[in-house]
Amino acid sequence: MLQEQEVHAAEMELTFIAIKPDGVQRGLISEIISRFERKGFKLVAIKIVVPSKDFAQKHYHDLKERPFFNRLCDSFSSGPVVAMVWEGEGVIKYGRKLIGVTDPQKSEPGTIRGDLAVRRNIIHGSDGPDSAKDEINLWFKPEELVT
Ligand code: UDP
Ligand code: MG
Repeated sequence: MLQEQEVHAAEMELTFIAIKPDGVQRGLISEIISRFERKGFKLVAIKIVVPSKDFAQKHYHDLKERPFFNRLCDSFSSGPVVAMVWEGEGVIKYGRKLIGVTDPQKSEPGTIRGDLAVRRNIIHGSDGPDSAKDEINLWFKPEELVT
């Protein structure tokens, strides 16, 4: 029998998750939050904002050389985004598992993108500890996080 405390001695982590404008527009806010909650992760910050294009470019700065960058930033700034910080053991990696892969058509059933999206992929999640830290700092002030 696995002893949780022994096997998963990892520290609590934080990750940044955003429901993109297409996810908000499709009415998927509660469905997505519910999946993270049911797994046992803890919501420590949330707000709804319409990002400016400049802000979208900052958020996706790693992708600025990619051909789809401009379209991506237009789409990301086209309406309300639900920005969140989730806490939990392994939440960065497991959050990505809950989300599925980038292309919804290739995402497994059971994942958010696999179950709920066909073309636009409705959600963003930090892809590692460095991006999680950067994205949380970009979107939230420290005092906006519940401890
Ligand atoms: N994207 C796209 N075309 C691509 C790859 C990515 O339009 O070929 C968009 C898509 O919305 C994706 C976002 O750019 O979610 C960020 O890309 P990334 O590779 O970081 O994928 P993610 O981390 O969201 O799975
Ligand atoms: Mg990414």
